[in-house]
Amino acid sequence: MNKAVFFDRDGTINNLVYRGENCQIAGKKVRFTAPWKFSELRIKAGIVPFLDRLGQKGFLRIIITNQPDLEYKLLNIIEHKKITRFLKKMPVDDIYVCPHGRNRKCLCRKPKPGMILDAVKKWKINLRESFFIGDSLTDIQVGKNVGCKTIFIQKKTEDECSKADFNIKSIFEAEEIVFSTRKSS
Ligand SMILES: [Mg+2]
Ligand SMILES: [Zn+2]
Repeated sequence: MNKAVFFDRDGTINNLVYRGENCQIAGKKVRFTAPWKFSELRIKAGIVPFLDRLGQKGFLRIIITNQPDLEYKLLNIIEHKKITRFLKKMPVDDIYVCPHGRNRKCLCRKPKPGMILDAVKKWKINLRESFFIGDSLTDIQVGKNVGCKTIFIQKKTEDECSKADFNIKSIFEAEEIVFSTRKSS
């Protein structure tokens, strides 16, 4: 059995993109979104060496991302594929994408566990030895739903602490947590 660190993508691996104060998507006001073009993709500094060290310690590194803007035609499939191709050149073992809108009843959209369960089957992952790192409450919910340890990156604008096992200010605090936490019994 393998252990894994599951990563959310936008706001965790790469920066969110600011769209101004009047941006609405599917009736919901949003100031920050996923990159809609490859040229908007900005990987957070220091992520690549962190991913390398996780690999050296025997963790699979798997990105689990909702991309509803595909369905809303804000992100076109060619740009999306360019972004995914770039991420696959990083020290990442696999990437799972839910392309469905917010109201679709798919089994993959976080906090539904579909993408993680697919990864578990393919990579033979022991979830009790695994972590989910993300910056949204849905990331924490999905991690908890499947029995991972959960690490919540607090956004700068929010002080709220989630129900995650660990709350951190920057993804780089995650490294010590992953390397020092023993598996739950
Ligand atoms: Mg996110
Ligand atoms: Zn889906």
